Amino acid sequence: MTLLGCSAAGAEDAKTFLGFRLLDLENQTVKWRTPTFGRSAIVTYAFATAPVETPGSRNCASMLPPAAAYDASKINKRQFRSEVAAAFRMWEKVADISFRETRDTRAAGILIGAQARPLGRAFTNVALKQGTGEKKVIGRSLICINPKQPWKVGFDGRLGVYDLRYTIAHEIGHAIGLDHPSAAGQLMSYRYDEKQTGLQPGDIQGAVLLYGPRANTRRFATTGAGAGGVPSSDANRGWPFGIGDGRVTSSPKAIDPR
Ligand SMILES: [Zn+2]
Repeated sequence: MTLLGCSAAGAEDAKTFLGFRLLDLENQTVKWRTPTFGRSAIVTYAFATAPVETPGSRNCASMLPPAAAYDASKINKRQFRSEVAAAFRMWEKVADISFRETRDTRAAGILIGAQARPLGRAFTNVALKQGTGEKKVIGRSLICINPKQPWKVGFDGRLGVYDLRYTIAHEIGHAIGLDHPSAAGQLMSYRYDEKQTGLQPGDIQGAVLLYGPRANTRRFATTGAGAGGVPSSDANRGWPFGIGDGRVTSSPKAIDPR
């Protein structure tokens, strides 16, 4: 499958085709709690409160408390927490996945911090739970943002400065099992262009496929996976151009997806 071929399709076809893509780790799709599509999950999250080392993690291997990333941009803790909470809510509102903050940084399902070794803009590292089942589920996701890059709250057209809420929401998408479907058009697309805020139809389809619809958004569930839901090994083409220059890996042994 080539992404290039899609541009020749009609707008509607292209939209469907590029709607979403599921993460493919160790040749399987991944989600929280149970591998079964459409089953709900509750995931805890925490903010790093001290340096966190995750040996073997290709990205986010060394993390610092997130203040290292937002302080320099004159964003305060209250604003940062509020933007992160809003990013989690975007996904909660459409799919049956819920997020609970915890102070237990060791036990948290998703840990958010700043990169100790700045690179790119933001990364997500998804690690699978080592289990005995046929299919593994996500055991932990790390989200790390670059303290050497400027950050902002809200869009203002300056594409060199990424909006925190949008960026974190994109990284949460990876943290729950979604990959980049395309260059642009969805929140999970890898290009940062400030052309839309919030989740787009493909993002919603992907999250609903994985976790089921939030009760009042069942209308989104009828769309089905479509071709865009087929995991593909060439998912990561084009990463250098946007938010998604965060690679998503399951283990140090993972093959470089590019
Ligand atoms: Zn990405």
